[in-house]
Amino acid sequence: MLYNSTQNNNKVVSSAQAIAQGISEDGGLFVPQSFPKFSLTDIESMLQMSYQDRAKAVFKCYLTDFTEEEIADCVDKAYTKEKFEDVNPAPITCVDYNGNEFNILELWHGPTCAFKDMALQILPHLLTKSLKKTADGIKAVILVATSGDTGKAALEGFKDVEDTQIIVFYPENGVSAMQKHQMNTQAGENVYVCAIKGNFDDAQTGVKQIFTDPANSEILSQHGMMFSSANSINWGRLLPQIVYYVSAYCDMVKMGKVNLGEKINIVVPTGNFGNILAAYYACEMGIPVNKFICASNSNNVLTDFINTGVYDKNRDFYTTISPSMDILVSSNLERLLYKLSGNNDEVVKDLMAKLKTDGVYEVSDDIKEKIKKVFYGGFCDEDSTKTTIKNLFDSKKYLCDTHTSVAVSVYDDYVKETGDKTPAVIASTASPYKFSKSVLEAMSDDALPESEFDMVYKLYSLSNTKVPAPIAELKGLKARFDNVTDKNEMKQTVLKALGIN
Ligand SMILES: *Cc1c(COP(=O)(O)O)cnc(C)c1O
Repeated sequence: MLYNSTQNNNKVVSSAQAIAQGISEDGGLFVPQSFPKFSLTDIESMLQMSYQDRAKAVFKCYLTDFTEEEIADCVDKAYTKEKFEDVNPAPITCVDYNGNEFNILELWHGPTCAFKDMALQILPHLLTKSLKKTADGIKAVILVATSGDTGKAALEGFKDVEDTQIIVFYPENGVSAMQKHQMNTQAGENVYVCAIKGNFDDAQTGVKQIFTDPANSEILSQHGMMFSSANSINWGRLLPQIVYYVSAYCDMVKMGKVNLGEKINIVVPTGNFGNILAAYYACEMGIPVNKFICASNSNNVLTDFINTGVYDKNRDFYTTISPSMDILVSSNLERLLYKLSGNNDEVVKDLMAKLKTDGVYEVSDDIKEKIKKVFYGGFCDEDSTKTTIKNLFDSKKYLCDTHTSVAVSVYDDYVKETGDKTPAVIASTASPYKFSKSVLEAMSDDALPESEFDMVYKLYSLSNTKVPAPIAELKGLKARFDNVTDKNEMKQTVLKALGIN
């Protein structure tokens, strides 16, 4: 299996190169040249497999420059019962709501209580093996700019992984109290956390500048190091996400929700378009899917795109109670456009150039039609997000977070609008305890307790649901990091953290 850049079909790399490099020099994203297909017989044979074995079967199709032992090593180290509460890291919970049956795929049982763990627990293993194959002996320095969830998940994933060092920058006033506490208490000998005086964009711009300045790469190279990336454009983050959709379909068949070969709908609360794209890729591999339901919050750029074929980021940016979906440029959409244009790198390059210069582009009628056929786009505002949390809990005692609630609400609209009763899997992307304040506000009119952990325990007493151990354990932990730097001093901070002066 080889990979192309979405913006240059002449760029051809192995999976190890794609993962080590993260992004192509031409600015395009790496995509597999074709999608391996599972037949129904293949899927049938996966029904009895564990999640881990299903993961190995999927990985084997794409990581053809890895040995089976290497793949097994990565999977077995990542998806352990200790890290994900159970041998199955991605269980399905079934709930009846408004006469619809929801099959909620809970992707937040990992060490940081967000679905990003599903990829970031395995990426460090994939990356260190990829580096051995392409740049042996080099230490990878992972730079991350985060608005909250990715930073903690990457820290936890890379903690004490040999030949890696991870440095995370977050906006001093731009993350939740729990997210800040999660990052500043991070254990591990190879981790470094620093707030910057600025917003998320400043952090992201600073990291990009450090990445792209050849002088910095030169300094690192003199010390046997290189920069690498853990953000969601890396193929090594997308691939592990395909697995849980393949696995969810197998579980739906096993639970008798669908017959083998029957289609399901998949509902995903969407921001950067990575999670829903992984579902689409699972379908390309042979998983029977009727509709992909793309749920957005008030930042509804994708809803408009799916409905009109026009992508327009020139609009107000809303800070919402589902912050991980507050995004106006969904980077992974580029990969869908590449696929739907018949792997046409020129078309993608042109659209991405328009997005950069004008902030807007329109796809061809052909692509519009293909999108409409399999995608449904909808969005929900903050009031509906809160009402849905409350209604779902009051009627079914199922407590969901603010992101999952957006998906539930949009799915409800979809069924009302279309009458489509195809069995649906809804991706649940975070534990409600990561967003205790907003969830509490949705549940009750009482005054909020002052401290973050008092909110956690208030939510616990209201809902009688389990507080995830990784959150409970943070209580009383002393912060290891209290670094704050100016946004113009990030480079010096990085060099100091690496012990290079
Ligand atoms: C990152 C994130 C999302 C958005 O996922 P994308 O892959 O970026 O579309 C949704 N919910 C939560 C909780 C997240 O952390």
